[in-house]
Amino acid sequence: MSHAYLGLGSNLGDRLLNLKMAIREMEKSDSISMLDLSPVYETEPVGKKDQPWFLNAVGLIETTLEPLRLLDDILGIERKMGRKRENKWGPRNIDLDILLYADLIMNSDRLTLPHPQMHKRKFVLLPLTRINPNLLHPLLKKNVTELLNECSDRSEVRLFEKTP
Ligand code: ATP
Ligand code: CA
Ligand code: CA
Repeated sequence: MSHAYLGLGSNLGDRLLNLKMAIREMEKSDSISMLDLSPVYETEPVGKKDQPWFLNAVGLIETTLEPLRLLDDILGIERKMGRKRENKWGPRNIDLDILLYADLIMNSDRLTLPHPQMHKRKFVLLPLTRINPNLLHPLLKKNVTELLNECSDRSEVRLFEKTP
């Protein structure tokens, strides 16, 4: 069994329902159990600005799946929910990323761990601190509170709902 942190995002359709559906799909899997969920935040898009605001949250799971199998499963949930994979960073009804998998560091064609952008994104770091403020980034060797304080991301992130 390993612990992993997953990032959830949606900026198309019923955004809150999309996050809840993705969580429900993960809970259906025998190989994944949800241990914790952050509050939901409404966030200004980073990078590509001309698109609707996102809802973002982070979940802590326990899983028997190896990292690439976990990636297959969450990409399967995106597909099942009808995500159209168009341009990177464009609008999407659901986006599921593996932020951290135990304290694993890896870099393959399909999977980079920790998620290569996580330390640059307030919409990831803020919810992570709400689950575990002492959580360590295994590569940067700093915890998520330190990373949030040092983060230069100035886009707005505001509380949307306390419990998804
Ligand atoms: P970003 O990765 O910057 O958040 P994105 O989520 O929009 O961008 P996608 O189009 O959803 O990017 O994903 C493209 C590919 O990224 C996936 O098919 C997957 O193979 C790869 N990938 C690499 N590392 C990860 C990771 N840690 N979590 C999820 N996908 C990853
Ligand atoms: Ca993403
Ligand atoms: Ca993604």
